[in-house]
Amino acid sequence: MNQNRYIDTRGLCDAPVPFTEAVVNGLADGGGLYVPENLPRFSLGEITALADVPYAQRAARIYQAFDIDLDPETIENLMTQAYGENFDDEDICPITTLDANTHVLELWHGPTSAFKDMALQCLPRFFSASAAALKEQGKLDNDFLILVATSGDTGKAALEGFKDQEGVRISVMYPHGGVSDIQFKQMATQSGGNVMVWAVRGNFDDCQTGAKAVFGDREFNEALASERKIALSSANSINWGRLLPQVVYYVSSYAMLVREGKVAPGQPIDVCVPTGNFGNILAAWYAKQVGTPIDMLLCASNENRVLADFISTGTYDISHREFMLTPSPSMDILVSSNLERQLFELTGRNGDAIRSWMDDLRERRAFRIDEETFAKLRNHFTADSIDSAACFAAIKNVFEHHNYLIDPHTAVAYQAAENLRGENPVLIASTAHWAKFGENVYRALHGIEPGGALPDEVSALSGCKLNELIAKETGIDHIPANLANLDETEIRFTDIIDSAPADIEQAITEFLDQR
Ligand SMILES: *Cc1c(COP(=O)(O)O)cnc(C)c1O
Repeated sequence: MNQNRYIDTRGLCDAPVPFTEAVVNGLADGGGLYVPENLPRFSLGEITALADVPYAQRAARIYQAFDIDLDPETIENLMTQAYGENFDDEDICPITTLDANTHVLELWHGPTSAFKDMALQCLPRFFSASAAALKEQGKLDNDFLILVATSGDTGKAALEGFKDQEGVRISVMYPHGGVSDIQFKQMATQSGGNVMVWAVRGNFDDCQTGAKAVFGDREFNEALASERKIALSSANSINWGRLLPQVVYYVSSYAMLVREGKVAPGQPIDVCVPTGNFGNILAAWYAKQVGTPIDMLLCASNENRVLADFISTGTYDISHREFMLTPSPSMDILVSSNLERQLFELTGRNGDAIRSWMDDLRERRAFRIDEETFAKLRNHFTADSIDSAACFAAIKNVFEHHNYLIDPHTAVAYQAAENLRGENPVLIASTAHWAKFGENVYRALHGIEPGGALPDEVSALSGCKLNELIAKETGIDHIPANLANLDETEIRFTDIIDSAPADIEQAITEFLDQR
């Protein structure tokens, strides 16, 4: 096997590591992110031929081209498990065409109805297999506890991905009273023998700060290692194992567009992505790098517009930026961790430059890239920021003109694509099913302003009942089973804990004592 190895974006690691170690480590030593030392290159024929095989095999082919250090049979098995019956569409991520130049890539057919399933049905399987392989090689002798702080979507997708995986347990913390009825029920009803869910008194920031403190508590981590042979891990979106599955769907969707006669072989498309952490759009850039005929990458921000401003100006500045709560909460992010990988690539892999920019960001809450890198950035990216009113207008507009419902994240991308598009067909990344965000879809359809009160009889409904009402009113009645039956599913997790590190650690200890 010609093993591809992973280097780090800050040039601080002694030696590159294989895929399995990059996945299990998550973050590189020194704080940088892993990227593959070499990128594969696919011919147009290889890309369009992907349409001839099921999605799982497309994913396996692309993984194998990245030369990962697991045998081909294992890769194919894991992909068959990751992208099978757990998705409610055999195309896994089908494309809906709104008009000749507007195609919507539906990334929400997985078990939690959000796009994070695309990566989190895959990463945990590779994480578990990687850990097993490293144990066999004598490089690892511990199990893992994944600790996740979530504002709603990530936690559920991570629970569903890691449930019943060998050698791993997972615990998720969410803000008590700070998630929607649907999100609460999705997490509180989670199945699986290795899972735990806590409501935390406080907001999302308290959850995240608490989790960080636990990760940084040397004594606690050492005790876990020596007494229980367990290491904490976060499996968060900077893990290369979460990015690679996202590269797959962009390459694959080009093959699908060609097969369906929607673009001519080799015809360039633009891709528009609603992004906060820069993960999903970075994956599209890698898809372009490995040969997919993608021209421009359209970056769609909500009112937290730090990325849109960066792409327009070359300055990343959060020194005076206020964090805004928007109808697209999964993009409410100020520090876009995956941007570091993009800059590393655009500078010709200059770890020194990345280190100095990341130092600036930490010390001055801002950095400015050089003119040459900025020019390269502008060759690939344009960006726009869509406010909440425009987001709601897009939901209503798309429903009225196309009889199709989109969620607020997808709506941000739809409107950005309208504002930024040129001649090329645009592929819009649709990141959540509308029924995950029923309240704001209802507001948008009824002309209620962002944050406005719902009518009493509507706000009294459970999330499921509200979705049924929207389905009845619009005639768009496909609600995924995992969302439709939540009111009837038994609640398993009701613990409420404080966000102080000692309280979280106590809860962790009790969870680990359970078996
Ligand atoms: C996480 C998420 C996003 C943003 O993804 P990035 O990794 O920040 O690009 C967009 N939409 C939804 C629904 C999400 O859950």
